[in-house]
Amino acid sequence: LGHQERWENVYAMVNQMRGSQTNQVVEEEIRYIFPFFPARSLFKIDVTSTLNNKKITGCYVETFIGPDSLVSIHLKENIQKVKEAAFCANTLGAPIATLGGFTSIVLEGQTKLLPAGLQTVFTTGNTLTAAFIVQNVKDACQVLDKDISQSHIIVIGATGDIGSACVNYFAGKSAQLTLVARNKRKLFESYHDLSGTACTITDSVEEYASEGDIIIAAASSSSIQLHNLKTGTLVIDAGYPKNIDITCIDTSKIHFLYGGMGYVCGNIHFYPDYRLPLYHVPSRKIAHGCILEAVVLAFENKHYAYSQGRGQITLEKMEEILLWANKHGIIPAPFYNHQGLWS
Ligand code: NDP
Repeated sequence: LGHQERWENVYAMVNQMRGSQTNQVVEEEIRYIFPFFPARSLFKIDVTSTLNNKKITGCYVETFIGPDSLVSIHLKENIQKVKEAAFCANTLGAPIATLGGFTSIVLEGQTKLLPAGLQTVFTTGNTLTAAFIVQNVKDACQVLDKDISQSHIIVIGATGDIGSACVNYFAGKSAQLTLVARNKRKLFESYHDLSGTACTITDSVEEYASEGDIIIAAASSSSIQLHNLKTGTLVIDAGYPKNIDITCIDTSKIHFLYGGMGYVCGNIHFYPDYRLPLYHVPSRKIAHGCILEAVVLAFENKHYAYSQGRGQITLEKMEEILLWANKHGIIPAPFYNHQGLWS
């Protein structure tokens, strides 16, 4: 289950839904009608495992939550839209579904808030996403010859489900951690006894951004501004929608990458093929970690809520799901950003 992160995606999507033969609907009209669409399956997806050629079939259910509505004042209507999308997945007979991006955030990952009696099992997909992010950091550091044990890592969204998994992974492995979220009390409650790494908690990323060697953004927010970054800082934006306002940073002086995405080595087909250019990924084989978690669980015949709630992702589970994923040819996506593949 998912949503669009930008109006440009929505315009392209609605016009594709109507078929290329028909007249294009104007943008203003789309913005007006979009929230009234009921949740529905937009395209089917086939994925083949490289392990045993097992083919699984799924589909993408659009919630029709508008990009401007991904904020707390729309919480009630967003929860209703997620519930409708969950019904839709159930009607389609899906044994397992991922609550992609914001759809798990509005429920705080609590799959029990979904209507009772559904046969479909829901996972947030956050464990595989977090595992991909950690792997992204490790791989990029290897390429850039950065030593994690000597690095100051800043995690934006540190009290969140994905952010806290990243913090727990890098605690004890990095030189210094700065943990960022708006609610300082929650930060303090979560991390007052974090041991192994010098740790600062803050609600102001501006104050510390210039000191970071590695910045991981996993916040439920967009347009976060980072100023005065050190040359060579590695910034990984795993947000959906994207967290970092790239107009504020000189991306030629830092290493800016999108994180939490996976790559399918086996066959993956979309029909009808709506996806590109909707998601601005440089390959049709790249998909969000959360979506791929359901794919991996389906390959493994594990139809249970692997990831749910908040703060329950363990390092063992991250390792386990990454292993299962790799076994079936699902690996972290190649490095890329808004400009395409990164080298
Ligand atoms: P949560 O809701 O669990 O956590 C969000 C975190 O962001 C909290 O710590 C929150 O704390 C913090 N936050 C929100 N706004 C700001 C802000 N302006 N500045 C600093 N911190 C902020 O979210 P998840 O962990 O489930 O998801 C995190 C991100 O990852 C989201 O963007 C989500 O869409 C994305 N995602 C990406 C996937 C992928 O495949 N790449 C898959 C799934 C999710 P506080 O409220 O106190 O500020």
